[in-house]
Amino acid sequence: MSNEFSIKFKVVLLGQSAVGKTSICIRFCQNEFELNQEPTIGAAFQNCLLDLGEKKVTLQIWDTAGQERYNSLTSMYYRGAKGAIIIYDVTNPDSYESAKDWVKEIRQQGSSSVKVILVANKIDLTNHSVQKTEVLKYCEKHNLLFSEVSAKNGLGVDELFYDLATDMTNQY
Ligand code: GDP
Ligand code: MG
Repeated sequence: MSNEFSIKFKVVLLGQSAVGKTSICIRFCQNEFELNQEPTIGAAFQNCLLDLGEKKVTLQIWDTAGQERYNSLTSMYYRGAKGAIIIYDVTNPDSYESAKDWVKEIRQQGSSSVKVILVANKIDLTNHSVQKTEVLKYCEKHNLLFSEVSAKNGLGVDELFYDLATDMTNQY
C-alpha cells in the first residue's frame, strides 16, 4: 500500500466569535466529519487530504464548538497543533486585536514548531476597517504568513490551506 498521505498535521482554527472560522472550514473541507466527545475540548475535526506535488499531507482541521464566545477555549484545544489559522474579520478592528492575542498565546503555549497564518476574512464586504499596511507590518515582525479570504465567495480559501501545508511540510 502506498503511504503517500501518511504525513498528518493537526491544524487549529482560532479567532474571536463570528469571524468566520466555521465558514472557512466548511468552505474548504468536504471530507469526513468527526465530533470529539471530550467535553473539555468540545471541538470537531475533519481530515482533508492535500496534494502538494511531491508531498501529500493530511490536515486534521479542528474547529471550536463556540467556546471562544465565553473565553473558555483551553490549551487542550491546540495541544499538538503543527499549524494555527488565526482569523479576523476585516470589518471588525476588535477581532484583529483578539487575533493578535491568539498569536501571542500560541507562540507562548503552543508547540515550538507551530506555523501560524494570520487570515483576513470577509474581504467580499466593502466596509473594511482594519488597515492592511499595519497588518502586513505586524506579520513581518512576527514572522507570520498572511492570507486574505472570503468564506462567502471562496476567494483565497484553498490557497490559505495550501500555503500553510507547504510551510509545515518544508521542515519534513
Ligand atoms: P465563527 O464563530 O468564527 O465560527 O464564525 P461563523 O463561521 O459562524 O460565521 C459568523 C458569521 O459571519 C455568519 O453569519 C457567516 O455567514 C458570516 N461570514 C463568515 N464568513 C464570511 C465571509 O467571508 N463574508 C461574509 N460577508 N460573511 C461571512
Ligand atoms: Mg464557529
